Amino acid sequence: MRIAADSHSNMDSDVVIVGGGPAGMMAGLLLARAGISVAILEKHGDFFRDFRGDTVHPSTMQLLDDLGLLQQFLARPHNRIDRAELYWDGRPLQIGDLTHLAMPAPFIAMMPQWHFLDFLRDEAEKYPGFRLHMNCEAADVVERDGRVTGVRLTDGRAMHARQLTLLCDGRDSIARRILPVRSLGAPIDVFWFALPKSGDGDALRGVVRRGRLIVMIDRGDYWQCAFVITKGEGAAIRARGIADFRAQVAAVLDAAAPAEVAALDAALPDFDKVHLLSVSLDRLERWHKPGLLAIGDAAHAMSPVGGIGINLAVQDAVCAANMLYAPLCEGRATDAYCAEIAARRILPTRIIQGMQAAVHRNMLQPLLRGELGGDDKPPLALRLLNRFALLRRIPGYFIGHGVRQERVNTPAAPQ
Ligand SMILES: Cc1cc2nc3c(=O)[nH]c(=O)nc-3n(C[C@H](O)[C@H](O)[C@H](O)COP(=O)(O)OP(=O)(O)OC[C@H]3O[C@@H](n4cnc5c(N)ncnc54)[C@H](O)[C@@H]3O)c2cc1C
Repeated sequence: MRIAADSHSNMDSDVVIVGGGPAGMMAGLLLARAGISVAILEKHGDFFRDFRGDTVHPSTMQLLDDLGLLQQFLARPHNRIDRAELYWDGRPLQIGDLTHLAMPAPFIAMMPQWHFLDFLRDEAEKYPGFRLHMNCEAADVVERDGRVTGVRLTDGRAMHARQLTLLCDGRDSIARRILPVRSLGAPIDVFWFALPKSGDGDALRGVVRRGRLIVMIDRGDYWQCAFVITKGEGAAIRARGIADFRAQVAAVLDAAAPAEVAALDAALPDFDKVHLLSVSLDRLERWHKPGLLAIGDAAHAMSPVGGIGINLAVQDAVCAANMLYAPLCEGRATDAYCAEIAARRILPTRIIQGMQAAVHRNMLQPLLRGELGGDDKPPLALRLLNRFALLRRIPGYFIGHGVRQERVNTPAAPQ
């Protein structure tokens, strides 16, 4: 039985999606496009959040191409990154190359996440089954006879899901109150800030110096900078004051970005311009229960290492839509389908989180303890990448395709 998209009351839908981030908006678009009625609840009034992760990878753009939307997407303001380089104590090393990828967009599109989400919303709103409720926060799930049947909102109202509640509410998800979580530990935190850009530089740039790492992401006229610190060190750094922080930044960037160092006083007058991200690495041990499925950061909080979180969340959403649209159309979206989705997506999650944990353990922790850098040569793997251009395609391939790349196979119902 196909359920007509408009056959529901204002507070009822086949699928209630909690969270209008990359996972929720992509799932909402695909399901509404396939003719399912979907309500997305987003607790904020808009998508604007700075330093939220702005990397749209080739695998995500492949999906937009599958949907015939890539050119419209690329018409929105963005800049493109297709190489990664690392300055190791002043020595430039080439470590990644995406230019060889046989994909419709062989580069990372740097687009503020709110533009990406606006784009998905604009497309999704073309379908009659799609509804987006902004300023609408879910407080908890509603259960009846052991099955989740929707959510209760913070204003006391209930939102009923006829078939499925899809939790896409990020790493502080309400799923974490009802499903077991396994923490993998994260020994780092990150300070984010912006520096005006001088000169060229169109690559993703890491700078290692004096036991510190700053990652600089080219944003056209400025660099988005991530200053990696030991977990919990943020309060002590703040207590030492902004002048001390600027001095630390300058000590790392002095050789790789001298013009940016000269602009530091004006760019970082106080800590209001510096944002602390507490890094977590964890995942749910079980992503579903009858009537409920969690995907994206709600199911697995990712480290910023590799800038992979948005794209993994989007891939989860595509997998969920691919496997659920037919049962949803027929009114039989049982827990068994959610179990299949979780089983399929746990593999890439484990592999990517395992690699992030290895980078934390083998590179970032030793670096922050002062055991790497200084007079040391760069690690062998970095030297090999720098020496052999062909090897640089391996990280490029991994970033471009991800692990277990999903492709859209949901149909477009007549509009
Ligand atoms: C500082 C920072 C930098 C990052 N950089 C990158 C990067 O460069 N590249 C990358 O790929 N990833 C990056 N990430 C990770 C990336 O942002 C996440 O992995 C990705 O956004 C996950 O998408 P999601 O849709 O699962 O969850 P989120 O993006 O967290 O979206 C969850 C949404 O749910 C809403 N919400 C939460 N609770 C509720 C509720 N109870 N009711 C209603 N709505 C709710 C939130 O407002 C939010 O809009 C970064 C993360 C941070 C914090």
